[in-house]
Amino acid sequence: MNKEFSVTLKELKLKVTPKRLAILEILRNESVYLSPEEVWKKLKKQFKRIGLPTVYRNLDELARGNVISQVSHPNRQLYYYLCLNSSHHHHFICLSCRNVEDIEFCMLRELEKRVKTELNGRIVSHILQVNGLCRNCLKKNGTYHEG
Ligand SMILES: [Zn+2]
Ligand SMILES: [Zn+2]
Ligand SMILES: [Zn+2]
Repeated sequence: MNKEFSVTLKELKLKVTPKRLAILEILRNESVYLSPEEVWKKLKKQFKRIGLPTVYRNLDELARGNVISQVSHPNRQLYYYLCLNSSHHHHFICLSCRNVEDIEFCMLRELEKRVKTELNGRIVSHILQVNGLCRNCLKKNGTYHEG
């Protein structure tokens, strides 16, 4: 797997470093999104003296290179998630248990058509993240209160 990650990083012209590979490995082993602090705690097992700013910087660079996804949470905390599904899709994130699920359906295709016909413009890319409560949390009568 580390080999695959190296290839991905090289393709994106991102330097392959042991720390970056370790971050990707940590995120891959999780089905939930993690905060930089949580990634840091796990990384410290391998890199005892690594500082939190280094983790922040690496996560930011990986997200900008689209290797990992940044999750914007209504609690304003930043989280990151690694998805290996390379087809066009969107994420349904659970605000309570932090589970992430892929939604293969994209309703923004219609919007792209309208931007073309009504505005004579062209959409190059779009970001859509859907926030809610997953079925398990609903079963447990989970709730999420903003703020
Ligand atoms: Zn949930
Ligand atoms: Zn995904
Ligand atoms: Zn889409």
